[in-house]
Amino acid sequence: MGATLAHLLGLHGLSVVAIERERAPYPLPRAVHLDGEAMRVFQTIGIADALAPVMFVNKGMQFVDPQGRLLIKWPRPQAVSDQGWHASYRFHQPDLETLLRDTLDRFAQHTVVLNAEAVGAAEDEVGVTLTVRTGGSSREDAIRCRYLIGCDGARSVVREWIGANYIDLHSDAEWIVVDVLMKRPLPDLSDWTIQLCDPARPTTLARGTGDRRRWEFMVMPDDDRTQLERPEFLWSLLSRWIGPEDASLERAAVYRFNAVIATPWRRGRMLIAGDAAHRTPPFLGQGLCAGIRDAANLAWKLAWAIAGRGDAETLLESYEGERRPHVSEFVAQAVRVGEVLQSARQIPPNAETEHMDTPAPRLGPGLHDAHDPLAGRLAAQPLAADGQWLDDVVGQNFALIVRDSDAGALPESLRSLCAERQVAIFPAAQGFSPPSGICALLVRPDRYIFGGAKSFGAAEMTVQRLAAVPSQRAEPSLMEQAR
Ligand SMILES: Cc1cc2nc3c(=O)[nH]c(=O)nc-3n(C[C@H](O)[C@H](O)[C@H](O)COP(=O)(O)OP(=O)(O)OC[C@H]3O[C@@H](n4cnc5c(N)ncnc54)[C@H](O)[C@@H]3O)c2cc1C
Repeated sequence: MGATLAHLLGLHGLSVVAIERERAPYPLPRAVHLDGEAMRVFQTIGIADALAPVMFVNKGMQFVDPQGRLLIKWPRPQAVSDQGWHASYRFHQPDLETLLRDTLDRFAQHTVVLNAEAVGAAEDEVGVTLTVRTGGSSREDAIRCRYLIGCDGARSVVREWIGANYIDLHSDAEWIVVDVLMKRPLPDLSDWTIQLCDPARPTTLARGTGDRRRWEFMVMPDDDRTQLERPEFLWSLLSRWIGPEDASLERAAVYRFNAVIATPWRRGRMLIAGDAAHRTPPFLGQGLCAGIRDAANLAWKLAWAIAGRGDAETLLESYEGERRPHVSEFVAQAVRVGEVLQSARQIPPNAETEHMDTPAPRLGPGLHDAHDPLAGRLAAQPLAADGQWLDDVVGQNFALIVRDSDAGALPESLRSLCAERQVAIFPAAQGFSPPSGICALLVRPDRYIFGGAKSFGAAEMTVQRLAAVPSQRAEPSLMEQAR
């Protein structure tokens, strides 16, 4: 997700030095599921069209008991959602990471340093000095930056430097993740994700992109730990579905699936995002998606803080305040799914009608109107009359969405206020269906609703409240600091 954040910050005109320990994107099996909200971020970045051909729309998930009887069916919509994208996709994480990295060079101001490890940081009033060890040598270089964002994964050192603690949601188990490449199609293998709720060996089966398929097996107490990644053991686990004549093993890795949320996410000019800030069992396929949301939430706030468009303290404190409660709901639901998976007995037999929904939480308290029930919720992505999507038109600005049919009646005072506050007015022709009475929605650059209004007069007050984020002097550039 660090590359996603670098893209978003680049769109704001900021320059980024990205430090990455590895030379190439991480090759081991990880994320296979993305949601429509993440696709909107990739649309903003400009890579969604290149990503779409290497993804497919996810059918959904079925929970079955050890005899194969259906317990819960969770179909995912097959039509485009109000986000302008499907609700749920299957993809291959290395495809995404390669695309994100390959397109970063469009930002001439960015520097990517591969094969380099961040080993120390010292903060002062105006910035952070990061110590970086390159190429596995003992040579250390100092990099000066205004803010340091630790997108450095589960073993984050930036999290340590911040001094964050964990909130533990008490879910901790080892799983073997096996990716295979099919040699031939097997019609009995479903396109649905299957959660086999077998207390003897909870198992997940998922179709991947291309010829890929994935099995995830829980490690059981009797397993010989020296054998877990050995082909003989893996084939014995897979033998219920496939054998070596059907597929070849691509990769197998043992992962600890746990549910922890760090706090705080910030100390002064150092912040964390993605797996550095939260980890979830992968049963909902939401770990990476949550990191993408962090990036979208943080990018505009950092840009505003640096440009002096708002008080840095208010902006950056709202990052954890908004995001931590939001991600916690996803993690808690993933934990519940894991509990179902580990004990079919918790589900009444034949409860085929049992229903599951993706969480759609509200942001925690922050830069939106806590008294407005719409505020802090993800906005839909409407279309303009000329067929352009909201996110393509407004980019990284705030947007005031009004009905196309009402746009002519917008008072001049509201238009000039929007121009003054750099709020794009978006006349929506399709896909704008707020609750009755609402005629305008003010949407933030991360596509979450700042507030709704029932009249254009009220909309003016909503836009005015943007000024409630008190401004400050723009931060001096690093060149100015050095002088
Ligand atoms: C089996 C499995 C299945 C999953 N399935 C899904 C799914 O379907 N959908 C989903 O949304 N999520 C899924 N996830 C979660 C998803 O893979 C992670 O949430 C995501 O990769 C986290 O991204 P990140 O950028 O925060 O961390 P990482 O991807 O871990 O990236 C951190 C980067 O920081 C670098 N780094 C670390 N320390 C340093 C240092 N000191 N100096 C320099 N560089 C450093 C690392 O080399 C690494 O490249 C799954 C995870 C697993 C394990």
